[in-house]
Amino acid sequence: MHFHILTLFPEMVMEGLDTSITGRAMKNGHITVNAVNIRDFAENKHGHVDDYPYGGGAGMVMQPGPVYRAYEYVRNAVNERQMQGANCLEGSGEIKRPRVIYMTPQGKVFNQTLAKEFAEEEDLIFLCGHYEGIDERVLEMIVTDHLSIGDYVLTGGELPAMVVIDAVSRLVPGVLNNDISAEFETFHNNLLEYPQYTRPEEFMGKKVPDVLLSGHHKNIETWRMEQSVKRTKERRPDLLENG
Ligand code: SAM
Repeated sequence: MHFHILTLFPEMVMEGLDTSITGRAMKNGHITVNAVNIRDFAENKHGHVDDYPYGGGAGMVMQPGPVYRAYEYVRNAVNERQMQGANCLEGSGEIKRPRVIYMTPQGKVFNQTLAKEFAEEEDLIFLCGHYEGIDERVLEMIVTDHLSIGDYVLTGGELPAMVVIDAVSRLVPGVLNNDISAEFETFHNNLLEYPQYTRPEEFMGKKVPDVLLSGHHKNIETWRMEQSVKRTKERRPDLLENG
């Protein structure tokens, strides 16, 4: 799976993602992450990519030109790779337009269902805004999805893009050592995961529940399901209502 990130701060996303499990996935070739600096597509010698908002108001707005050119650059590279590879539908020369996800507090709120949907894609292009955001015209031209990571406002789209890439990557086959661990965890069947324990058997007087030491798989399974339901009722009753 290929992630492309259009950003003013490529080093921020690369440093964050080239670590731990996503870093290993990049090294193993399960995912690629390509951060493209929008500033490289400025057409002035100072590399300015933002300007004052028409109509007045606070802050600066990212200009459409550099964003569009950065997008075209990535899209051409994706097209070229698709034409060379097996993704090009045989004989037809047809190429799939990659989804372009604009990270914005005005978008649909990201969740595990969307993570699963995105994990089916071959390429995803993330567009990260900064300052007051991006000129609406270029958004209308290139964006397919408006996506938020929650109802609060951050300074830029880089952390949100990293959140989404992390959640999607771990659903890509081979990224987690044990694929089963992505299958039976929180949000599976609209339930939170049961509590987890590891060594030692006793910690500061608190013991691991006996059933987990019993070796009786059926009882363990039943206990875990009960705990999942109990925990979901207590912490996220909305999941049960929507399930
Ligand atoms: N003026 C914009 C508004 O009121 O909708 C907010 C701009 S915000 C300060 C700058 C950038 O951060 C946005 O363009 C977006 O890319 C990103 N961002 C901020 N909060 C976000 C969130 N909750 N989810 C996704 N992206 C977010």
